[in-house]
Amino acid sequence: MVPQDVDGAALSGLRTGFAGDVVVPGDPAYDEARTVFNAMIDRRPAVIAQCATVRDVARAIRFGRDLGLEIAVRGGGHSVAGMALTDGGVVVDLRRMNAVTVDPGARTARVGGGATMSHLDRAAEPYGLATTGGRVSTTGVGGFVLGGGAGWLDRTFGLACDNLLSVELVTADGDTVRASGEENRELFWALHGGGGNFGVATSFTLRLHPLPVVTAGLLLWRPEAGGDVARAYRDVLESAPDELGGGLLYLTAPPEDFVPEDMAGRLACAVLLTYAGPAREAREAAAPLLRLGHDAEMITEASYADLQSMFDDPPGYRNYWSAEYLAGFPDEAVDAFCARAADMIVPSPSQHVLFPQGGAVARGPADHPVPWRRAPWVVHPFGLWSDPADDERARRWAHDVRTAVKPWSTGAVYLNFIGREGAERVVAGLGEENYRRLAAVKARYDPDNVFHLNHNIKPG
Ligand code: FAD
Repeated sequence: MVPQDVDGAALSGLRTGFAGDVVVPGDPAYDEARTVFNAMIDRRPAVIAQCATVRDVARAIRFGRDLGLEIAVRGGGHSVAGMALTDGGVVVDLRRMNAVTVDPGARTARVGGGATMSHLDRAAEPYGLATTGGRVSTTGVGGFVLGGGAGWLDRTFGLACDNLLSVELVTADGDTVRASGEENRELFWALHGGGGNFGVATSFTLRLHPLPVVTAGLLLWRPEAGGDVARAYRDVLESAPDELGGGLLYLTAPPEDFVPEDMAGRLACAVLLTYAGPAREAREAAAPLLRLGHDAEMITEASYADLQSMFDDPPGYRNYWSAEYLAGFPDEAVDAFCARAADMIVPSPSQHVLFPQGGAVARGPADHPVPWRRAPWVVHPFGLWSDPADDERARRWAHDVRTAVKPWSTGAVYLNFIGREGAERVVAGLGEENYRRLAAVKARYDPDNVFHLNHNIKPG
């Protein structure tokens, strides 16, 4: 959409009684307010409505609709395609709505629609409680949960959407709706993977679990050992307790004390160990990996909130990521996966990742619109680099990784792990039958497709 001037009277009307702030081009706060995680995204909204209340959200939506402006919804700003921003339209920015209230007796958390994982984890930590979050602390709870939500704890506690108890939503008409297992059940079902298609979620209630301690570990090998490490990792995870998670990855070895000097800054193969319990149990569960003769080791107990911020990716980099969900990871797939690691940009914060699923992820409800939950393995090329001259190279690497492992793909894909890859991938991400059912929910709550800056479900 082309940037356009917004009617001054309409803008004053929006500002009157608005509890948050309304930011427009030229304001000192404008550039910060339009910055998202992916530095490749440079969009200039006409209005950024930094909402502080549910009423602000409803007013911002009505304002956008009355003026015929495109509407984007911003939680944590982590969408790789920059779906939280629009050129010339209105951004419903939820970042101020980040309060988290924990009920330790009921083991639930009520989470504002603009909270990040860090807000949630830090609020639950004093009670020794946690729930499945993303793998970094800066991701928005909103986009994460509505897409399904996979993270370090998912094999133990299920996907984030499996822990969703209710959602409060402002619809395209500016009405407020509550969805749960008892109210608006079809909408509630749709919010288990259907993303931001149905309205703006102003709060979520999530189930929490007791988790006094977790273990985090990083084992590093020189890249030549990758094949053996990957096979061993696969074999361990195939019969591991649900508490063991983490991932196998190639990365740029960090310049840390526990890393040999000649490895730092170069490509390394790594096992990232996470365990929902003490280090002694983690070491037992990962014993075959620890016997492989690694070059560097860090294993430590931590609180879950600390684990979640331990691997925070730096903002300000250019991003491109994609994913394939695999039905198996036989030796041929291992070879195909490992061979593509050499094409990753090094040094950089990029990661060539294999995540395990299984455990509580696989056992979750079969009818939720997250068909990718059944795949035991996820291949996730996660590109972060700084030089625009590397854009094409980074994209090619991610595409080549997908092509290399495609023979083992289930075809389903988690939409939060991809950018704009076309309408067919959206259907693949939700499942064909689910897509039709979701389209009917969309027709009921957003018949004009006001919320289309997302992995879009067309009203049907
Ligand atoms: P935004 O860019 O703000 O929003 C993305 C989409 O969600 C938009 O379409 C927006 O309309 C919608 N949305 C956001 N909040 C709301 C709301 N309250 N109501 C309605 N719609 C809303 N995902 C995982 O599952 N596991 C991971 O481990 C993981 N790690 C990541 C690590 C990094 C460094 C990054 C950048 C992303 C990671 N992701 C992960 C992907 C992440 O889940 C998605 O990018 C997700 O969309 C981010 O949500 P957000 O609110 O931060 O995004």
